[in-house]
Amino acid sequence: MNNWILEYKGWNKEEHPLREALCTLGNGYFATRGAMEELQANDFNYPGTYLAGGYNRAKSKIKGKEIVNEDLVNLPNWLFLTFKIKNGKWLNLDDTEILEYLVNLNLKEGVLERKVKFRDNQSHETTLISRRIVSMDDHHVMGIEWTIIPENWEGEITVRSALDGSVENKGVERYNDLNNEHLDILDKGKFNENKIYLLSQTKQSKILIAQTAQLSIYQKKEKINTKIEVSKDKEMVWHDAKLNCSKLQSVRIEKLATLFTSKDFAISDPLNEAQQKLSRVDSFNEIYLNHKMVWEQLWNHSNFELETENHSLLFLRLHTFHLYQTISENSIDYDIGIPSRGWHGEAYRGHIFWDELYIFPFLNLHMPHLARAMLMYRYRRLGRARYAAKENGYRGAMYPWQSGSNGREESQKIHLNPKSGRWIPDYSNIQRHINAAIPYNVWLYYQTTNDMDFLAGYGAEMILNTALFWLSIADYNPKRDRYEIRGVMGPDEYHTHYPDSEQPGLNNNAYTNFMAVWVIRCALELFKILDEKIINELIQKVGFTNDDMEKCEALIKKMYIPFNKNGTIMQFEGFDKLKDFNWDKYKKKYGNTLRLDRILEKENDSPNNYKACKQADVLMLFYLFSADELTRIFNALDYDFDPKTIPDNINYYQKITSHGSTLSRVIFSWVYVRSNRELSWNNFREALLSDFKDVQGGTTPEGIHLGAMAGSIDIIQRCYTGLEIRDDVLWLNPCLPKELNCLQMHIRYRGHWIKLKITPKKLYLQFEKGWANPINISVKGQKKELTSNDSAKFDL
Ligand code: BGC
Repeated sequence: MNNWILEYKGWNKEEHPLREALCTLGNGYFATRGAMEELQANDFNYPGTYLAGGYNRAKSKIKGKEIVNEDLVNLPNWLFLTFKIKNGKWLNLDDTEILEYLVNLNLKEGVLERKVKFRDNQSHETTLISRRIVSMDDHHVMGIEWTIIPENWEGEITVRSALDGSVENKGVERYNDLNNEHLDILDKGKFNENKIYLLSQTKQSKILIAQTAQLSIYQKKEKINTKIEVSKDKEMVWHDAKLNCSKLQSVRIEKLATLFTSKDFAISDPLNEAQQKLSRVDSFNEIYLNHKMVWEQLWNHSNFELETENHSLLFLRLHTFHLYQTISENSIDYDIGIPSRGWHGEAYRGHIFWDELYIFPFLNLHMPHLARAMLMYRYRRLGRARYAAKENGYRGAMYPWQSGSNGREESQKIHLNPKSGRWIPDYSNIQRHINAAIPYNVWLYYQTTNDMDFLAGYGAEMILNTALFWLSIADYNPKRDRYEIRGVMGPDEYHTHYPDSEQPGLNNNAYTNFMAVWVIRCALELFKILDEKIINELIQKVGFTNDDMEKCEALIKKMYIPFNKNGTIMQFEGFDKLKDFNWDKYKKKYGNTLRLDRILEKENDSPNNYKACKQADVLMLFYLFSADELTRIFNALDYDFDPKTIPDNINYYQKITSHGSTLSRVIFSWVYVRSNRELSWNNFREALLSDFKDVQGGTTPEGIHLGAMAGSIDIIQRCYTGLEIRDDVLWLNPCLPKELNCLQMHIRYRGHWIKLKITPKKLYLQFEKGWANPINISVKGQKKELTSNDSAKFDL
């Protein structure tokens, strides 16, 4: 395999849904799965197209109860393109003998190619080569190019190309009992002689969606003037063109399409814009050349070079590719957040979780303006988060665990366990630690960019509001003389409540409590760095009182963190009382224990009874903070934290973690880097391959895991380079695993573009010519001030 091309050889119906998700093309505005053009949705082909942030709410009845979910809507299918020979059947590969099948996703150029040679039941042999793009250059434009080669036949063919509104949200089997009708088709027909359009609208959110398409046919390099008929039915509008083919003479078909919605800006009305745009696009090749140029520019800034084995580089690029397809410069100002599963499928309904925490570090160091735009998604929902805090009896802002259109809590109230067929309560929304992830992201963005205007204008307000929330949720326990946070869940979703309690929530989750302290410390830091006038205005706006300030000071000294007797951190209070879990027995019985929650629920048991974790929880602390920083914060809390216990923590939790979330491997790779490079590398490889191999057995077809994708890039970017940003210094302390001989990357830091090359013995830095002020660098303790055009070499 070439490290720029994800290649699939051979037709594999079972694997097609996975390939389809991984071959999604998107541009940060919308995305379309790598489905086959010629088939509508069936049991293996699912041509989903999703608008970034294109949500709709619908009511469903489950077990007699009404529930409301907000879904990412599957838009009308623009891909549909098929043909038939004479009076034969429309193309369906499943019905033919496939002689050759190759799919290439070209990451460098953003092109999806498919080459198929097949024989139908009339013994016609045909080669079909398809190329598809979703323009990164003009985000309203997309195109398909088909080349049909009649290998052993000649005669008339009919080509059909459609805009197909007969779609539903059917991409996730578990959601099939829920209402999945989100669209009304408002209008369809032809314009400008033989171009077609389809206008639809989401039922509740009333987003208008205008799509158009045109069909052009070329023989011997010339566009042919064949008659194109337009027809329509209730939900679909299509083109039919008839033409004669000669043996071995290829026919080229171009389908160009456009998409506008009422969420666009600088438009009059979506349909007019979509129609005008279509009349301005010339050819597939023209779209392709501009699209390719934009991808080249993206790679100029975002490419990594690794000297290593096993195509790690290919997967790193695949992850970067999907990240930019989900959010790109085209997303800016659209008020969209970073969805945990990309816009690649319907899993988790396109919602925004804490997974951003794993994604921002890449954006900060490559596209800080994009990171800022994504933080604005949270800022715009600050009012809603303040309301949620108030509604729940707290102060400040309480962000939802799952966020969609308007920032209200979108977590489902019940979910289906496909293993048992039972609908069970979903308590995941009590993961209040999202209110630490958001200020953490704000702070890291500020540290990386020094964007004081953002901090003063928006970021500080989010930090202060979440700090106030933590102040109000933490209660003083006089018996301990400590503050506590009760009734929440940590990142480990296997633990939702105590075995002997009906009440959801656990007490004193170490990660949550520590992060609450960190947010409050961060809020106090703002008083030191912001202008007096600004901070005074802000505290007035947020509602911080003198008493709150006192409570802040008390809380950073007296928050309770549970520890085990041996000095390791206890995941939550009472975790030590849970039963040990017999991993071997369950691994033997079920093959793997990734979804232990589902397995145990089916057995009328629950992970709540055991010391068994879905994902890194305590260990998140060693991912987010250096040993020095942890020690400083623990010492201020009057805990005798010894960094020497870090490996004990890692070893303990490693034994009891099932990695039921793909995010988990990222953390384990990270935390092992200094103590066990081999395990770090192994976990990195697991994270890197988790979507490609669909390690969870069926989740990737429903949407990629963007947190693990970006997290795996960040292991190379920050973990193996020891890159940290602290106290206005860019620290580098590389620690390459033995599998990595050389690593090169390009980062953006405080206005500089810096090239880094790291080998086991040397580190080279090259600053590109630019405008930014000098910055401080520290490599393994050697400090230097460097600026535009400088270069430096360090011995490691
Ligand atoms: C994980 C969460 C994550 C969510 C979305 C869940 O399985 O436990 O930590 O935020 O997936 O990716």
